[in-house]
Parts: sequence; C-alpha cells; structure tokens
Amino acid sequence: MSDQPYVYRRRELVEPDWRRLPGFADATAEQWADAQWQRVNCVKNLRQLRGVYGDLLSEDFYADVERDQAERATMSLLLPPQMLNTVVPTEVPSTEAMLADPVRRYMLPVFSDRATDWPSHPHSSRDSLHEAEMWATEGLTHRYPTKVLAEMLPTCPQYCGHCTRMDLVGNSTPLVQKHKFELKPVSRHDAMIDYLRRTPGVRDVVVSGGDVGNMPFKNLESFVARLLEIDTIRDIRLATKALMGLPQHWTAPDVVEGMGRLATTARSRGVALAIHTHVNAAQSVTPSVALAARAMIEAGVRDVRNQGVLLKGVNTTPEQLLDLCFALQDEAGILPYYFYLCDMIPNAEHWRISVGQAQDLQHSIMGYLPGFATPRIVCDVPYVGKRWVHQLEEYDRERGISYWTKNYRTGIELRDPDALSRRYEYYDPIQSLPPSGQAWWREHAGTEAALDRAHEAARASQEASAALVSA
Ligand code: SF4
Repeated sequence: MSDQPYVYRRRELVEPDWRRLPGFADATAEQWADAQWQRVNCVKNLRQLRGVYGDLLSEDFYADVERDQAERATMSLLLPPQMLNTVVPTEVPSTEAMLADPVRRYMLPVFSDRATDWPSHPHSSRDSLHEAEMWATEGLTHRYPTKVLAEMLPTCPQYCGHCTRMDLVGNSTPLVQKHKFELKPVSRHDAMIDYLRRTPGVRDVVVSGGDVGNMPFKNLESFVARLLEIDTIRDIRLATKALMGLPQHWTAPDVVEGMGRLATTARSRGVALAIHTHVNAAQSVTPSVALAARAMIEAGVRDVRNQGVLLKGVNTTPEQLLDLCFALQDEAGILPYYFYLCDMIPNAEHWRISVGQAQDLQHSIMGYLPGFATPRIVCDVPYVGKRWVHQLEEYDRERGISYWTKNYRTGIELRDPDALSRRYEYYDPIQSLPPSGQAWWREHAGTEAALDRAHEAARASQEASAALVSA
C-alpha cells in the first residue's frame, strides 16, 4: 500500500517560551497576557529588534532588514511580542533559522529575500484592487452589489510585509508615501452609516481597516451598534489579524464584555456577527490565539473565520497549508475560509505564486478537511473581485496572463455597457514563467506598463463623463 500524500496527526498547540529571547527574558506571564504591555513592547525599528534578539543574530541580518526598509519595503516594521515569539518557535533563534522561518519571511522582510530580476510586476500598483476608486464615501468600498468594505482606520497592531492596502495602511516608508484619509474619523464613519441607511441593496458589511483591533473598543461598538439598527444589514464581519498577532486585545475583559453586548443584539435581530482573521502559518496558532477565538465564540459571535494569503516560503506547499488548516479548525475553532493569491503590489514578486500553482494547491488539499472547512483558494482580480482560481475564462500560461469575467457591476460601472462582457486580466509572477514567457516580458514590459497607464487614464475619463451625465 502507498502512503497518503498528506498524513494527518493531531498536534497540540504550544505557546513558545518567550524567555528564550533576550529582550523578553524577564517578561512575566501577567505582562505577556496584557494587551497594553504587548503594544508598548512592539518592535518598530532596528534598535528595538536588536533589543529583542541582541547577539543571537548576525550584523548581516540586521543590515539585511535595514536595507529592505530603505529600498524595498512598502510597510514599516510593527511586530508585537506575541508575533515575534512565533518566529523560530522551538529553539533559540540563529540567523539561519530566522532567514528560513515562514513567519519571519512575511512579517520581517529582508532585502535578500526580494526578487532581483523582477522585484515588481510591470502591472503592479499601489491600491492594486482599485478600492479607493470604488469608495461610495471615503473608505467605504462598494465593489460587489450586496456587500461593502468599510475601512475604519488606517492602522493595525502589526504590519504585514505584503499588505494589500499598503497604499493607505501604516506609516510611510522611504519608498511609499502613504495616502491619508481627508475626513476626520467621526465624519467618515457617519458618512458610511448614512450611505448604508439609504442603500438597502447592501446586506453585508466587512468592518475592516487596517485592523479593528486598533480602534478604541467603544468607537467600534458604537459603529457596529449603528449598523445593527439598519434592518437591511444581515451580515457583519469584523476584520482583525490581531486575533492572532495580538490575541491579548481580544481577551481583555472590556473587549469580551463589549463583544458580548454586540453579539446579543445581533442575535436578537437575526444578524450574523462574525470575526475574520488572517493567519498564514500553522506555528502562529498558539494557545493564546485559541483562547481569543474561544472568548469570541463564547461572547456570542456566530463564527471566527480565517482569510489567509498564499505566500511563497510561508504556506504554498500542500503540507504547510493543511497543517495550518487543521491547527485552525481542530485546535482553535477558527474556520479555514479563504486563501487569497498575494495581490499585485510593488515588490511582492518573491511572495507571489502563479494561478496555475494555486490551482494545483487547491487540488492537493481537497478531501482531507471536512467540506465546510476546506478553504477556497481565490484570486482577487482587479475591477472584478474574488474568483475561485479554477473560474478563469482563459489562461495564457506562457505569458502568465489569466482572463476573468464577472456577473455584476462594481459601484463605478453602473453605466458601463461592457462591464459584464469585458475580460479582466491577472498576471502571474514573471519568474514562474517558462523562458519564452520571460523573454516576452523582457521585450514588452515597458510597452505593457505604458498600455496599463493609458487604460487607467481612459477608464478615469470614462468615469468622469459618466459622473457628469448622472450629475
Ligand atoms: S493586518 Fe491586514 S491591513 Fe494590517 S498590515 Fe496586515 S494585511 Fe495589512
């Protein structure tokens, strides 16, 4: 008999011992469990990183991080102790172990990881999903007919190297001057509520950011309570990677009590209130994370679900993905819901995989998890939205261009007669292509990027004329 390609074994969660890291050697269990202590002791710069690891890591490693921040990073550093503690979790970290670690690879990027030939795809862009173009009010993206995304704030308790909202979220880096919201938070949130009151076709609100774990809880509670008063809204999902990166926030007594109040109101009105988190590696699922997820379920939220991002070197083998899904589903009560392809933002090519590789991954993970907990692997296609990776219309594997269609108009295409027949493109990383495809891109990259800019200009002017007609 042959072995199965993947062998399931139940694995108990373990909280790595933080005292192995010189900077946290004296932290007590009480301090560790305290959200405020975690926030105060975050690593935000190289000096603080040295403070945690000291001589365990080589000067070359620190220089690698520093060069990345100066020349490639689209996100600044922000790592809570909880998150750092899951990097090289079972031993005293060495430079080699740090470089190889999946969580380090995306939360603490180094220059030497980035692709050298094509660090960015020619079609990559800030706000690669064009969310700001689809804002119905500032920060409220209306892309799908029945659902909206409310970007409540532009900060998070942790910053991920691959953040798709790198345009807006976090501090500016030497490479990226972040855009700023123009309205004050209160006015912005009021405008969102006002839009939702007068738009009964929207039934589902993703309350996101950034990360709602960074909102003062009373402000989050007040916003969600106002959503709950709109009787056309049936689904509310709170997006917070902090459930994993800073689970101490979600177990703080005032937050648990407040979530209990919201969940009770939601249940009494028949609204499904859920939490969506973002975990990319099995080693990030620790007892503290399970505790936070359980606290939310006990407070009465309908579900805690995971939306991860596929990142090379982190979670793109069937084994890495299944280990993660089983840790979430079996040990933390978090539903493995989606995995996204990493979006086409600048300097992300070393993380991205092709649509074809994603299709193979989806195939490899079928049949191990219960059907309801088998995550869908999706591609967020610009101007389209999420599509299961097998849903493409056509696929040019040589040039790595996939073509997609959609069955609804986004908020900016209501008068666009071609929106439902047009084909929208998504691009594989050039490194993943056969030599002939790579040669094609070397020859055409400049022209393609220029065409891209021309398309965007044409689209913007089309939208401007449509707005004039409707005004
Ligand atoms: S938590 Fe989400 S919004 Fe915040 S940096 Fe990470 S990916 Fe971006």
